[in-house]
Amino acid sequence: MSMVPERCLRCGRTWGGAAAGGACPACGGPLVQMIPQHALGALPELSPGAMLALRVVSMASAGASAYHGYKRNRGSVGWAIGWGVLGAIFPIITPAVALAQGFGKPAKRGR
Ligand SMILES: [Zn+2]
Repeated sequence: MSMVPERCLRCGRTWGGAAAGGACPACGGPLVQMIPQHALGALPELSPGAMLALRVVSMASAGASAYHGYKRNRGSVGWAIGWGVLGAIFPIITPAVALAQGFGKPAKRGR
């Protein structure tokens, strides 16, 4: 049985889960359970540096992917935008696909 700490909404005291009954033993105020962060499965907050790094990687991926889509389809802006969006959403994966296709090389036409 888990001992979830409870916090009084009126006086702010916390009780080690022993204060059953939903009322604060000190002031009679309503108690709310303090659910630990890890119990919620919350993702750890990213530091600003990590967020910036992610954004830079995403931007670089979008740029490289857009270039590949543009060149692969012989200067098609539509394909460049499509590849760019994919590159931003799926960094690493999209450039990997681009590399597999031959980065920046035109698609072979069956002829
Ligand atoms: Zn209280």
